[in-house]
Amino acid sequence: MNPEGNSSDADMSASASKALFERATKVLPGGVNSPVRAFRSVGGTPYFVDRAEGPFVYDADGRRYIDYVQSYGPQIAGHAHPAVIDAIQQAAQRGTSYGAPTRGEVLIAEEIRARVEGIEMVRLTSSGTEAAMSAVRLARGVTGRDKIVKFAGCYHGHSDSLLVAGGSGVAQQGLAGSEGVTSGAVADTVVAPYNVIPELDESVAVVCVEPVAANMGLVAPEPEFLQGLRRACDEVGAMLLFDEVITGFRLCRGGAARWFGVQPDVWCFGKVIGGGLPVGAFGASTSIMSGLAPLGGVYQAGTLSGNPLATAAGLAVLELLTDDAYQHLESSVKSLQEGLIQAFAAAGVPAVVPRVGPLLGLFFTAHTPHDFDTASAAADNGLYPKFFHGMLRRGVAFAPGAYEAIFVSLAHGDGEIEATVQAATETAHEMAADGLPIR
Ligand SMILES: *Cc1c(COP(=O)(O)O)cnc(C)c1O
Repeated sequence: MNPEGNSSDADMSASASKALFERATKVLPGGVNSPVRAFRSVGGTPYFVDRAEGPFVYDADGRRYIDYVQSYGPQIAGHAHPAVIDAIQQAAQRGTSYGAPTRGEVLIAEEIRARVEGIEMVRLTSSGTEAAMSAVRLARGVTGRDKIVKFAGCYHGHSDSLLVAGGSGVAQQGLAGSEGVTSGAVADTVVAPYNVIPELDESVAVVCVEPVAANMGLVAPEPEFLQGLRRACDEVGAMLLFDEVITGFRLCRGGAARWFGVQPDVWCFGKVIGGGLPVGAFGASTSIMSGLAPLGGVYQAGTLSGNPLATAAGLAVLELLTDDAYQHLESSVKSLQEGLIQAFAAAGVPAVVPRVGPLLGLFFTAHTPHDFDTASAAADNGLYPKFFHGMLRRGVAFAPGAYEAIFVSLAHGDGEIEATVQAATETAHEMAADGLPIR
């Protein structure tokens, strides 16, 4: 199935990836710069990527994988899209960072404002973590309140007060939060179960939510959840923050706010808007954003914020994201979803494949998870690592952890989707022959 010669019993024992990983573990903690990459929750040695193109990554041993990691979201256009690479090259020739404002920052802020009703001003950062951290600071500054509410299993980056019950890599490590975070730092963070409207009072500055939870596998909001949050916030004068670092410009042109018809007060973005370069952004109305320095008293800054390469890459990606592009993406994702459902059903492997537009998830369970407890019960039942390695041996790279969403790009064609479904069919039979957990 793979023209580049992957075979189901590829010998990894003397591979270039393995040699690099051994070197890496001596100079990088766990051999990586972000924990999920270390393969701890699936076992084995990570493949080191040499290059990537469209739907494919190629590892240091020259093996090709159909890639559903796609940098965990940024590569919605596929890897090394010519328009994006060209934009980066042209920008790089004019210099890489100045410490002075640029045209690109204005253009991308205008583009975000044009796409998202309710956003009038934007501040660019270098990561989603910074965007969420700064947005929370802004909400606290503007409301004059301390408390924040977040939902178990939602990830808002790795700043101290938002790391508790953080989903994604935090969940994969089996940690509730993190060592090194003081009790003081989380004293004003309240954690609530996803899909339940929490009781709020007038001490709450902001309720932070992933409008589609995409860091505990994929958990969709129940029909009244986001509307209910909007109402609950309004009743006590709290702000509602949509962390759209994944959903922003992936669900549709206007992101989750448009998709669900619920308008938050503050938005966070990242991933897609940087086209694979380090970026983040947060936005709101002019009156809220005027709380930020230099207009207001909430400090926030960054040496590389609004970096010219990142804004060039982000603008090139947003230009590709037309209504037609979203339709194409959603139809690819739909055929992948249908194919996966069939593959697992044919082998008798219990699985649900939740989908919200072009966002896809996978849980090995009979019942669709609706919160972190039900998601983690499914994620930790031992089936995901078998699926992951079965697929990897067949040349298909899913995320090395059950808490991540499946990222399909515009570059994934029918051929890649069919090959993926074929690999999943074979893998599912292998999983069934191995024995399924007793339910
Ligand atoms: C990835 C992510 C972040 C953090 O972004 P980084 O760029 O990794 O710092 C924040 N929120 C959500 C919802 C994310 O998925």
